[in-house]
Amino acid sequence: MKTFAIALTLLFSVLAVAETGSKQSADRIWITDVTIISPESLDQIGKGSVLIENGRIVAVDRTNKAKKPTGATIVSGRGQYLIPGLIDSHVHLASVPGMTFDQSEGKQKMVEEYFKQLPRSYLYFGYTTLVDLAVVRPQVLEDFRQAPLHPDLYDCGASLPFANGYPMSFLPPTIRFKPFPNFIYDPKHADRIPPEYKPEDHTPAADVARAKSSGAICIKTYFERGFANDKNLPVMGADVLAEIRKATTQDGLVLMIHANGFEAQKFAVDGDVDVIAHGMWHWGALDKKTELPDEIKHLLDQIAQKKIGYQPTIQVLYGEAAYFDPKYLKMDAIAKVTPKDMLEWFQSPEGKWFGKELNEDGASDAEMLKDYEQNWLRRVRQVVAYLASKDANFVFGTDTPSSPTYGNLPGLNGYLEMKQLQKAGMSLAQIFRAATINNAREFKMDSQFGSIEPGKIANLVLMRKSPLESVDAYDTITTVWVHGKAVPRDTLAVTSR
Ligand SMILES: [Zn+2]
Repeated sequence: MKTFAIALTLLFSVLAVAETGSKQSADRIWITDVTIISPESLDQIGKGSVLIENGRIVAVDRTNKAKKPTGATIVSGRGQYLIPGLIDSHVHLASVPGMTFDQSEGKQKMVEEYFKQLPRSYLYFGYTTLVDLAVVRPQVLEDFRQAPLHPDLYDCGASLPFANGYPMSFLPPTIRFKPFPNFIYDPKHADRIPPEYKPEDHTPAADVARAKSSGAICIKTYFERGFANDKNLPVMGADVLAEIRKATTQDGLVLMIHANGFEAQKFAVDGDVDVIAHGMWHWGALDKKTELPDEIKHLLDQIAQKKIGYQPTIQVLYGEAAYFDPKYLKMDAIAKVTPKDMLEWFQSPEGKWFGKELNEDGASDAEMLKDYEQNWLRRVRQVVAYLASKDANFVFGTDTPSSPTYGNLPGLNGYLEMKQLQKAGMSLAQIFRAATINNAREFKMDSQFGSIEPGKIANLVLMRKSPLESVDAYDTITTVWVHGKAVPRDTLAVTSR
């Protein structure tokens, strides 16, 4: 049977080639009479047309006077807005929202359905390019790339935790090394590293080289002393970060660091990283200050001046708060991106396990929400507002899912993050640029994505409202083009299948 399957595949690929060769016009699409909003030219928004050929943008006209190209399929965008496909540069595709790995093991069918829907859920909210920051199960990414319809996917390979530090610390000492093949050896704690791992294989340079050879475009490392039950974790020193920086630059990759506190972001800035992968919601000794302290402002000034990519990832916090928000699971959009069985499980007592972990003292939902609002969310919003006033280099990333929470669902989480960013004080133009051109430039993919310009891949999103007039526009999508293929939004929702 195997030979037969291969023969059939070959036949299909021959047919596909023949078709593109003989009927090129079928691949010519002319989107016309549409308001074009592209981040590199926000000063010249107007009605026009975009011509797509064989999956690429070949012409953009902003006069609305261009003549219909011969043999093109016409799509009228009358009354609608055309933007480039959105980019989320912080996702974790292999993690299933709301479930621990052990729970997911026992729910294979449910999990299978979830992964089948995963690429479609991102497309449903207009995300056509993703960056996975820490590959733990390469097969999941491979399957994602093989799906008939999926966003373009890039990754940072296996991440570089400091030996026994975050996040390998979540696993028992005996099994925590295998899932993190690029951990950084710490000679001072050789007694806590299994003998089969040799120091020379786990230097920053060796780790970066291994990530690069796996196809990574970025390197992800961490500065995290821990929280909740895992405090006082080992963290790297400035010397180690300097070595990672050097190797990353030499290999032409983008250096990202997990840092969500004042101390950690100072470490990141001093170490000259490219992207800080979280907002600053831990202020350490300054946590109780109600106004943004001067010493933090000073650091944020440096982040803005150095144009360090900044991912606020406010949904990390709301992803937890969602357990205490009675409105969350009732949102219509939840059922668009979550298969039915899984949504039912989320609503079951077992599915709410994570909320109980977060609320060990049994506080009321209202008290829990207030705690998030007045502390964590308040602090990160103050930081984002300040950075927005300095027009910092925001790069849009959601960290979906940041923990085993159903508060971070694929695609929808991006939309909710945009609402959070606006609430925190970013302008609609800043949000739009962060999710398009800023991301494309930061990750060196701006020759392919991030704007509506000739030569780029035809990843486009058509919407009924302007994203520069309301953040709700991102939930009025009607069509998504994926490499030139038009996909009506409705067909991407769970309910349609
Ligand atoms: Zn993350």
